[in-house]
Amino acid sequence: MVEMEASRDWPCDLCGSDDAAEIVVARDYTGGEPLHVCRSCGFVFVRRRRSAEAIADAWSNEIFGSAYAAHIPAVVARLTYVAQFVDQTLGLRDKRLLDIGGGEGVFLDMIRRPEYGAEVFAVEPSNAYCDAMASRGIACFAGTIEDYLESLEAKPGSFDIVTIMWTLENCQSCRRMLDGAWALLRDGGHIVVATGSRILVPFKKPLHYYLRPGAQDTHAFRFSAKTLRGHLARSHFEAVEVNRFIDNDILCMAARKADRDSEIAWSGDDPDKVIDFFARWHEETAAHYADA
Ligand SMILES: [Zn+2]
Repeated sequence: MVEMEASRDWPCDLCGSDDAAEIVVARDYTGGEPLHVCRSCGFVFVRRRRSAEAIADAWSNEIFGSAYAAHIPAVVARLTYVAQFVDQTLGLRDKRLLDIGGGEGVFLDMIRRPEYGAEVFAVEPSNAYCDAMASRGIACFAGTIEDYLESLEAKPGSFDIVTIMWTLENCQSCRRMLDGAWALLRDGGHIVVATGSRILVPFKKPLHYYLRPGAQDTHAFRFSAKTLRGHLARSHFEAVEVNRFIDNDILCMAARKADRDSEIAWSGDDPDKVIDFFARWHEETAAHYADA
């Protein structure tokens, strides 16, 4: 049994400000749970969160246990998209690649094949998924990235590429996950973040497909391209490539590990525009897709 630290309120993960405005329309979709936007930098986040262990447990036992399957066509398609993005941007052949939140290992199984030729490793909190990877011969550490860094197995500075796919939004602290990736990468290595979080882009679906009822801290962060770039900058990564996210379901960004003392410029979003974005999305959903 995991020892549970109590839930607590967090400041903005991107700029540290305590000044946040609630995105009021979100409650219609979350079952009354609040979602906030930072008044300083425009980052969208869930203020009240449980412990990292409780969130990882919720993902392993409650969410993945029932609904999620990495083999459905849409998921295979998006993982293939990321594999192509990484290969064309950074090259995968003979690279030592760590996937944080490796899931069942579908992506790693894909990129270790001869056409990509990467050497792969996963850190994954679900024991069941680690067993699934082990049965396919994929090396895996069972735990969070924080657990891995504290373990004797961890190899700081040894990876060429770290991938974080549909995972950065699902941990308790995106800052700690990015800092962990920084520590594990070699000098000049690269991180690739892929996410479905879409802020300040055309609406691709009804708002009730994006915000779901129930505990919100299993999806505590919602990134725009600017705020994702900002998070990477604050963890000493300089963005080198981003996909054409404006009309794609995926936001995919590659960034290069910079020195620990480097100051990389970033700018967030206008919080009023973010609030207006959600209000417009709510109006469109209510007017046209409420029954979808
Ligand atoms: Zn902020």
